[in-house]
Order: sequence, then C-alpha cells, then structure tokens
Amino acid sequence: MSFVAHRSLKETYRKAVRGEGIYVFDADGNKYLDGSSGAGVSCLGHSNERVISAIKEQAEKLCFASSVFYTNDPTEELAAVLAKGAPGDLKYATFGCGGSEQVEGALKIARQYHVDRGEPSRTIMIARRQSYHGMTLGTLNVGGHIGRRQLYTPMFAPTHLIAPHYAYRERREGETAAAYSLRVANELETKILELGQENVAAFIAEPVVGATNGCVAADDVYFKRIREICDQYGVLLILDEVFCGMGRTGTRHACEQDSVLPDLLVMAKGLGGGYQPISALLISEKIINAVKDGRGYIANGHTYMNHPLNCAAGLAVQQEIADRDLIANVAKQGAYLRARLEESFGQHAHVGDIRGRGLMQALEFVVDRETKEPFPPEKQLWAKLQKTAMTHGLMCYPNGGTIDGIKGDHVILAPPYIISEAQVDEMVEKLEKSVAQTINQL
Ligand code: PMP
Repeated sequence: MSFVAHRSLKETYRKAVRGEGIYVFDADGNKYLDGSSGAGVSCLGHSNERVISAIKEQAEKLCFASSVFYTNDPTEELAAVLAKGAPGDLKYATFGCGGSEQVEGALKIARQYHVDRGEPSRTIMIARRQSYHGMTLGTLNVGGHIGRRQLYTPMFAPTHLIAPHYAYRERREGETAAAYSLRVANELETKILELGQENVAAFIAEPVVGATNGCVAADDVYFKRIREICDQYGVLLILDEVFCGMGRTGTRHACEQDSVLPDLLVMAKGLGGGYQPISALLISEKIINAVKDGRGYIANGHTYMNHPLNCAAGLAVQQEIADRDLIANVAKQGAYLRARLEESFGQHAHVGDIRGRGLMQALEFVVDRETKEPFPPEKQLWAKLQKTAMTHGLMCYPNGGTIDGIKGDHVILAPPYIISEAQVDEMVEKLEKSVAQTINQL
C-alpha cells in the first residue's frame, strides 16, 4: 500500500469486496458513497454491465497481441473515437496502462520532436509548482509535489518550475483576474529567456489541477498567453488531463473550456473508468509529421501498449458515456453540486474557497476566512477528514500539508458521472457531518 505507515495498515484500510452504481461495499458489509470515484477514476460508477460484457467478449476473442507484431480492433476503434472528438489536429492516439506512463511518453516525444527537426539542444521541461504529473522518476522530476519528490531529488536533472495559477492565494489585492492571469503566464516567458529558448523542449501543465492544490482551474486569458509564448519560442505545450479529462469537468477535454490547443494531450482516469488500467496520449499532426520526416518512428514503447482488453473496456466506457449523454449530466450535476456546496459551506467559518469545474469540485479549509490562515500542517486536517468521512459512509479525496507552497488543506469531490440529484444531496449531507466532526476534533 502506498504512503501509509505499515504499522497502521490494518486500521487504515478496509477490504473492498463489491461495487454497485456509485457505492462501494466492504468486507464487513459497510456501504460507502464513492464521492471521489476513487481518485477521479470510476466515472461510470461500479459494475456497469455493458462494460463488463465488452471485457468478457474481448477476453474470449483476444486478450493480448503484442504491438511489436500487431494492431487490433479495439485499439483502432478507440483511437478513432478519440480522434473524432479531439480538438484541432490532435488526430493520433497511443494507449498505455497508467497516467505516469503516458506523461513520460509525452515528455519523450517532445524531446524527439526537437531532435528530429534538428534542434537537439532542446532538453529542458518547464512545469509549475504545486503540480502533479505522476510517480515515475521522469514525471516526478517535472512535478511540484514536494512530498512525493523529496526522497528522489538528488537523482534528478535540475527542474524548472514556474508559478501555478492559484488565484485564491496568489492574486494580489487590487489586481484584476486578467492581470493576474497574464502575470503568472508571463513567468513562462521569463523562464524560457533565462534558460535560452534553444534549450527548452516543452511546458507541461494540468488545466484543472487535481492531486496537489485541489480543483484549481486557470482561465482562457492565462492559457491563451501560454500558447502564444510556446509558439513564439518554439516550445511544445503538453496538457496533463489524467485527472480532469474525459468528461470530468463537463466537456470531454478540460482544455476546451480554456480555448487552448496543446501539442500533446494526456488522459487516463475517466478513459477506462477503472474497468481496466488504460491511459492515452493524443499527438498532434504537427508532431507526427516531424516524426515522419525525421527518424520515421516514435522512439518509445511499452509491452502492454495498445492492449486489446484495456482498449475494449475504454471503448465500451466511452460508448456508454456517449449513448447516455453523461457529459451533459456532469455539467448539470456539477452545477447542482456547486450550488449545494455554496449553500452548505459558503458561509462556513473554516471554508475559505469553493472551486472547480463540473464534477470536480473542492473546498479549501482555513482557520480564518479573512486572513486565509491555514490550519497548522501538523494537525493533519485532511487526513482526519478522510478517516472521519469513511465512518460516515463517504469516500472523498482530501489533501494538504506536505505540498510545495500550499499552506492549507482541501477536499475534492469527484463522484461518478451517473450521480443523481438525490445522491448529490446525500453526498453533501455526509460531507457536512464529516467536516463538522473533524473540525470539532481539532
Ligand atoms: N497526472 C495527473 C494530473 C494525475 O492526477 C495523476 C494521478 N493522480 C497522474 C498524472 C499519474 O497517473 P498514474 O497514477 O496513473 O500513473
């Protein structure tokens, strides 16, 4: 088990045995409302019959065919579905088993793009503080999650991090929203000039931040400027939508709401909804053309890439989302969830900010709403809230304390796309009780 002290494993973990709709059941028969889809994964909820049948059907035909030798139907069909809904010239897809694997792929392809075009000095990746792009060495290196990086930093090449877009804490008094967005976006230009544009390969960011500072979105002023800077200096733009993509924010891709077109787009969690481990990287025509004119092939690959069973599951998940118009339900229930959170926590003495998009909403906790003073990290509000919520039958996704520059604690709600209005009410009521009990304990 990751990031849990071994001596507290037994008290921390329950054994999950069954799932049904938006609920998970443990071995003692307790029922939990899956208010975070695990960590933003289970977009269709649990035990969806159409997806299970598709997996069974594919398993009987063909579980695995090495991509060294073959392509396969589910991979081609899923690639076609993604290409059809993709913005701009993101018309090529490749599939892996996890978010980190695909972010690594994006970083490597970005590097290859420049080498194949005759600019081999472009090696540097610029990322943002308080970001998370994965747990492998390469992705930790471009992440700003200090707690997760710390142990490995002596193994890394120097990382270049700029400010996140985090208006609640970093917008100055009297500064307009647009001026703030431009100020932080321009940090990218300053950093590129400092490093020398001939040395910079790509900039990577999450359109809506997930695991670090909790559902923080930027805006189109910010991303328009980021795109301009990338174009001006020949730097590729990688957007990591592992958490916020595939419908989670109310559009298939979160970047659609910021009117920004990346060169490489990574997605994972909502792609397969947890039915199989699957992630995807969408690659722009511009990059594929450079590869075709360069060495002719992408210098990256994994044993389980384009896995037929995983792609069959992803395909069924995406067909189910389309046929039931579930992204529209994300927008509808997301607006309802936001209204319910505002109603329950809008005046709460210890909730400083309510933010997010679609079914990806968060509360940030503070000691004092005026000063935005956070709770002391050693109080571990976020960890206590997670535990308490479980006793109220709610899975939610709190974080805080150990992350670079983040002073406070927050909790993310990211329920399955199939959630109903009554279930949103049930989730918010459970959260109210959990927050009250946790803060009383502190
Ligand atoms: N990027 C983002 C934005 C994520 O939220 C995550 C997972 N939380 C990852 C990358 C890494 O994905 P995985 O855990 O599947 O490797």
